[in-house]
Amino acid sequence: MAVAHSLGFPRIGADRELKKALEDYWKGELSEAGLREVGRNLRAAHWQLQAEAGIELLPVGDFAWYDHVLTHSLMFGVVPERFLPADGQSSLETLFAMARGVTHNCCGGAQAQEMTKWFDTNYHYLVPEFSVDQQFSLSWTQLFDEAEEAMALGHRIKPVLIGPLTYLWLGKAKGESFDKLDLLERLLPLYGEVLERLAAQGVEWVQIDEPILVLDLPQDWKNAFERAYNLLQRAPLKKLIATYFGGLEDNLGLAAALPVDGLHIDLVRAPDQYPVILDRLPAYKILSLGLVNGRNVWRCDLDKALDVLNHAAERLGERLWVAPSCSLLHTPVDLHREDQLDTELKSWLAFAVQKCVEVAVLARAVDQPDDVEVQVALQSSREVQSSRAGSPLIHKSEVRERLAAITPEHSQRQSKFASRIVKQREQLALPAFPTTTIGSFPQTSSIRLARQAFKQGKLSLTDYTDVMQAEIRHAVSVQEQLGLDVLVHGEAERNDMVEYFAEQLDGYAFTRFGWVQSYGSRCVKPAVIYGDISRPAPMTVEWIRYAQQQTSKVIKGMLTGPVTMLMWSFTREDVSREQQARQLALAIRDEVCDLEAAGIKIVQIDEAAFREGLPLRRAGWSHYLDWAVDAFRLCASGVRDETQIHTHMCYSEFNDVIEAIAAMDADVITIETSRSQMELLEAFRAFDYPNDIGPGVYDIHSPRVPDTAEMVQLLEQASERIPAQRLWVNPDCGLKTRAWPETEAALVNMVAAARQLRSALQARVA
Ligand code: GLN
Ligand code: ZN
Repeated sequence: MAVAHSLGFPRIGADRELKKALEDYWKGELSEAGLREVGRNLRAAHWQLQAEAGIELLPVGDFAWYDHVLTHSLMFGVVPERFLPADGQSSLETLFAMARGVTHNCCGGAQAQEMTKWFDTNYHYLVPEFSVDQQFSLSWTQLFDEAEEAMALGHRIKPVLIGPLTYLWLGKAKGESFDKLDLLERLLPLYGEVLERLAAQGVEWVQIDEPILVLDLPQDWKNAFERAYNLLQRAPLKKLIATYFGGLEDNLGLAAALPVDGLHIDLVRAPDQYPVILDRLPAYKILSLGLVNGRNVWRCDLDKALDVLNHAAERLGERLWVAPSCSLLHTPVDLHREDQLDTELKSWLAFAVQKCVEVAVLARAVDQPDDVEVQVALQSSREVQSSRAGSPLIHKSEVRERLAAITPEHSQRQSKFASRIVKQREQLALPAFPTTTIGSFPQTSSIRLARQAFKQGKLSLTDYTDVMQAEIRHAVSVQEQLGLDVLVHGEAERNDMVEYFAEQLDGYAFTRFGWVQSYGSRCVKPAVIYGDISRPAPMTVEWIRYAQQQTSKVIKGMLTGPVTMLMWSFTREDVSREQQARQLALAIRDEVCDLEAAGIKIVQIDEAAFREGLPLRRAGWSHYLDWAVDAFRLCASGVRDETQIHTHMCYSEFNDVIEAIAAMDADVITIETSRSQMELLEAFRAFDYPNDIGPGVYDIHSPRVPDTAEMVQLLEQASERIPAQRLWVNPDCGLKTRAWPETEAALVNMVAAARQLRSALQARVA
């Protein structure tokens, strides 16, 4: 009998109940008791949904008030001193302070913990902070309380813990530099205690997540695995090590041999590890196969999954479990509520609840292939596969023909940068240290209201256009008054840099409730790429043209690039990401060319997600970088030499990909640097970046207005590495989250900084 289990369920709620409760609580409009009740109801509802779907072992510990890594930090007493309450007893207030920071009117307060991406997902966790003398103590009972809660409801449970090595790996050594791994001996007894305590509560199985087993691990970390699990072996309950987001590869032998009772592997991301694992798995161990994709919204091909399962069942018998590939945290909750999707398209989709049903059906199919429900499910899965295979919704011959006709020349500008830039400088006639912004200006509530009213049909297209044009005029006149050199239209009409374009492309669908947690109370609703992508009509030309009509200065057109469109969407499973990126590139290329034809001299193609697309393992990097760079070039290379292409990326860890960034061959790149004090410039030491570059001179994430001297200093630092004639002056990122007063104040100083540098340069030349 194969066991159906789940590695974790979305915690935010089908209606984002947790988001709303958290935000009310933070505003002081909901009591702690009220917040706790919302949490309790969500957990109960989620266990119930999974149990009804047929999941036999339910996850506990997948719920978190903000982030599950943060819960672990509280559990182990990893609370940095700046958050430590006077009595040493952490509370929800401590937890939220660590997540969000605290401001004290008198003395500044405490800065939130750093947040970063959970592996290659769009979920962000709070980075644990370790000190060299870090002590651990069991100081948070949430996991035990929730285990109790689930058992009281009559559920069979499997508490979920992040394993000790993954937990340490995710953290950061603060202060004096030291090796995090040195903390392992101190941390392990805590895991021992947690396991003892769960066992005493009557827990039979615990899931220990060690996703770092799918990464390239240094040898000492590999060695530590054996040591750690030898020690934890004594705990009187059964342990399942869960790995996901990739294949075990060189860690396969290590993972298979750990002295625990079971191993979960991701067969969606890494199907190849399947037959190999059978030979390496000790004969006493459970093998859990992750066959249903936890990272996407498509229904599983049950026949295909069942082939693997049946094969495994012959070898493993009772030792076989079935699960989604990873926690369902990364999928929306329930497809049933989507009442506005095309029915055919909807029949291809599965969200968390539906994925649990698929897991349960697969488990049942192993032992009861003739069961009626199993038969019905298999039949329906076959119908989906064949309906998709031939559907005109998906396959568009125009797109395929166009792709087939692409040659390497399409990804090549007419001339090399050195000659392009001469022509561009001549046409644009900009001063040295040209000033610009990244695209968006403050999204005031009146802009948001107008957009909403228009979407709901309460504002006519004409009235909406009037409001947006007024915003454009305002943004343009402010920029003129500030004395900026390259202006933007301000992006008032855009809700989100991906959604705005996706809504205008064919091949994209939108859900109503398909929310996925990004961090804390923040959720995103990724668009779904379901078919070949094409652009039925120009998307931005009218707005940009209008902006250009308002001024004699140059307006920079603003687009989102193919890689970012792809990374922030749910993607297809029937064609490669690479091919989807090329389709997107062609659609955006047409927009770039239309902007040029409309008289726009500069076009910026944002690639905010370029770096985050990097595969988890180094071995996959060069393939990814090849196609990602090519997609960008394909979309940017349809224009004349005189037309200047900008790109923007909002982070500064470029050192390991700088050559690929250079290969994108954008004429100008603007990047974030001010928060890292131009750390980026390190990358320029080893590699001579050839094109123009605008290192962000101030951080737009805070309302703080930096003074001119600060910006001058950053620019001087930059000009030690980058020739002055190739330097641009701009903020770190778009200004949409800021208010107008601080925006103008900061830009006044920025323009002054640029002028100061210009005079200094002139003085040097003269
Ligand atoms: N052009 C976009 C803006 O200014 C870029 C946003 C981003 O890089 N995240 O808002
Ligand atoms: Zn940015």
